[in-house]
Amino acid sequence: MLLYRVAPEGFYAVAEPGSPAPLEGLRLLYSDPLTVPPAAWELGRRLDEVPAALLPPIVPGKLVGIGRNYREHARELNNPVPTEPLLFLKSPGTLIGPNVPVVLPPESERVEYEGEIAIVLSGQLSRASAEEARRAVLGVTCANDVTARDLQKKDATFARAKSFDTFCPLGPAIRVGADLEDLEVVTRVNGEERQRGHTREMVFPLVDLLVYASRMMTLYPGDVILTGTPAGTKPVQAGEVMEVEVSGVGVLRNPVEAWNGR
Ligand code: ZN
Repeated sequence: MLLYRVAPEGFYAVAEPGSPAPLEGLRLLYSDPLTVPPAAWELGRRLDEVPAALLPPIVPGKLVGIGRNYREHARELNNPVPTEPLLFLKSPGTLIGPNVPVVLPPESERVEYEGEIAIVLSGQLSRASAEEARRAVLGVTCANDVTARDLQKKDATFARAKSFDTFCPLGPAIRVGADLEDLEVVTRVNGEERQRGHTREMVFPLVDLLVYASRMMTLYPGDVILTGTPAGTKPVQAGEVMEVEVSGVGVLRNPVEAWNGR
């Protein structure tokens, strides 16, 4: 099942999996997806029209990032493959939905895309077991962990490089019930493929990342974990269009826009 959040009102609507045009024939979701299990969701009427715009499918309390989780990406940045997950926080204020422009800040001369599989939680996790972590997953979505690479190299922490406004496109939908061990992520710029990664190439599998993060901070319903980016990150320029696609989720498309001086 695919879970969308429709703009501007912010209500949830659901599409059947495998539907060739999932945005046509969406049905209203009456249940709260963070408290009611998907099997018990109450669906309402069909939407009369295809939504003109979508919001990020979740508003997370926190955005947890994982660095260097694909061996090839660690190598291309001349970083050692980590022996435990490299955790960072990205401001939830970075969040934007599909088709909203990513704005290049004047402080950076090298802003790069990072196509990623994002996990959305519906359960609470604290020092969780693998089984508990698996049960707490609502689903997965596409994320673009946009990064000011020059500032990331310059600063002692990732906070600034990862957290400029508009630096986290998320969506278009949450794929509920995805197989967490069999997901692919592909990134394109202006239609040209730049990154391709599979969960089997990860240093730490998705469930292990949840277990690990839950040891130092309680993860709450709605929290989002960005699970790392494959090799192939490169800078983007104003006017280009970035796309991130995760198996069965759809395509997250965002244009890049120059700073407008405000
Ligand atoms: Zn990343």
